[in-house]
Amino acid sequence: MNREISTFQAKCHQCSASFSHPSLGDFSYGENLFFTGDGKHSVYANAFDEFPKKVRQLLGDEDPSQFWNVLASLADPISEQPLIQKLVCPHCGSTSLESWNGNRVGSLSVPPASFQGSSQLNDNDLSRRIQKALGNDVPA
Ligand SMILES: [Zn+2]
Repeated sequence: MNREISTFQAKCHQCSASFSHPSLGDFSYGENLFFTGDGKHSVYANAFDEFPKKVRQLLGDEDPSQFWNVLASLADPISEQPLIQKLVCPHCGSTSLESWNGNRVGSLSVPPASFQGSSQLNDNDLSRRIQKALGNDVPA
């Protein structure tokens, strides 16, 4: 189900364009937003959903700060673009921003992240994908 998420002003450091982006603000325990590399699409993810819970389990004692990065990399791509956790300028694709989370602009209907591809992997293959996302060498 889509969710109405507030959007806020941001300014790109690279191309100086102003744009608005959805943000969950500071009260988003267990939730996060992912973006496509062109900055044009966003989805939200909930750490307490079934698949994210499984990923967290497989991550085990691995650096928990990596959880969202790993989860973003396991989400189904949108318009063939993998999802990342970083906010991207929709004009030039830069992640170097001058400011973000500025004045509230409005709101945007944001769809949930989907994990259809990754949730079909068996635990073994999923673990390998997770290790890869963590930047660890995975034996072929
Ligand atoms: Zn830009």
